[in-house]
Amino acid sequence: MLNLKEIQKSYRDKTHTVRSVVNEALDKIKSEDERIGAMLQLYDEAYINQCIDRAETMITGGVSTDMTGVPIVIKDNINVKGQIVSAGSKILENYNSPYDATVIKKLKDAGAVIIGRTNMDEFAMGSSTENSAYKKTKNPLDITRVPGGSSGGSAAAVAATYVTVALGSDTGGSVRQPAAFTGLVGLKPTYGAVSRYGLIAMGSSLDQIGPITNNVDDAEVVFDIIKGKDIMDATSHQNLSESARDIKKRIAVPRLFIDQDGVDNKIRDNFNQTLTSFVDRGYEVVDVNIKNIEKTLHAYYIICAAEVSSNMGRYDGVRYGVHVESDTVNKSMIESRTEALGAEVKRRIMLGTYVLSSGYYDAYYNKALKLREKIREEIREVFKDFDIIAMPISPVMPWRFGEKSDPLSAYLTDVFSVSANVIGVPAITVPTGYIDEKLYGSIQMLADWHREDILFAYGREVESIYKK
Ligand code: GLN
Repeated sequence: MLNLKEIQKSYRDKTHTVRSVVNEALDKIKSEDERIGAMLQLYDEAYINQCIDRAETMITGGVSTDMTGVPIVIKDNINVKGQIVSAGSKILENYNSPYDATVIKKLKDAGAVIIGRTNMDEFAMGSSTENSAYKKTKNPLDITRVPGGSSGGSAAAVAATYVTVALGSDTGGSVRQPAAFTGLVGLKPTYGAVSRYGLIAMGSSLDQIGPITNNVDDAEVVFDIIKGKDIMDATSHQNLSESARDIKKRIAVPRLFIDQDGVDNKIRDNFNQTLTSFVDRGYEVVDVNIKNIEKTLHAYYIICAAEVSSNMGRYDGVRYGVHVESDTVNKSMIESRTEALGAEVKRRIMLGTYVLSSGYYDAYYNKALKLREKIREEIREVFKDFDIIAMPISPVMPWRFGEKSDPLSAYLTDVFSVSANVIGVPAITVPTGYIDEKLYGSIQMLADWHREDILFAYGREVESIYKK
């Protein structure tokens, strides 16, 4: 598959046209997606043609970017004007978005061709895309297994080579883990580096939009386009990662955390092997003890549920979404939500309402916030001496459908992915070669706030170790 720079070169050299590349993507989806189930919808011809025309004008006018004329797909929780955006939920089945999310506006301005929306766990709650209200998405590397989640459709679309770039959202791992499960690169930017305006909120203090791509260079291209302060998102800020300081070539490994029970041996071996390759290349790899990192998962499931329960309050069937008529307004809201929300969403609303309720607020929610600050301090210390913290992204390999239907067993697979969100630092996953006949290993790397540049540098190093 061509990377983004190669696609641009092919347009300049006229070996490809935007239309031919887009058509190839559409044909692939039409012939293969019945089997994979990555897509919820392909946009209509008129919409796609508009994008193509814009891209062609940019190319002829000599103002193209690395994304011009590149077909991309979007997770179903990012608003695209004039299109259905359902967040994988029945409650928004007919919700037609009146506006573009900031990331969509930026990608359109860069000339990207947005061709459709991808399947996801309902409101991004899940790790396998099995919580979608619509369908299952298969892992293109092994269709008996899940593609990960919640951005499983986006990951599957890139892994099945429909497109070179997909957008996902990452609240507790939802870009990085599906990217890893399908042998791809996934980036969760620093909290606030990318505007959340137009992203359907799950946990507002955790959510970030990020790219899923075939390689690190492409992830960097997309990040450079979508990042930046946005007046529509007060938590967004200018990313300062351009001002690269020297890289120390020092990697911190929270060894005790990684060596706990329940981590698949194949994953541990593959991870250690990657670290050995770094040592061979002159990097220093040091085991560190980050005291509270093991508790991040607890903090995550409290903070996230609390924010979910608040964010989900707006789906009452009054102004938009499924509306069930009833005797009173209250009853109508209850019945609309009862009918149109899935089990996992309801579970998290209940959990969140519980941890925020008077009497339990201090015992759970406040405690989780304090823990969050503590872990932040500990991590800040680590980044004084190290470029990155390295971990696996998941303790287990992509599972078979239905294997983790017990919610707790699914939550536990998020143990390594949620830290970056709870703390707010950027993190990337990069494939580390085949781990069995079909599936890839992956390394997750976290860097200091705004240091995406370090992640890209290290990511390229990993790629040079494991040339595909
Ligand atoms: N798997 C995690 C959860 O279910 C993270 C989801 C996400 O990042 N959207 O909460």
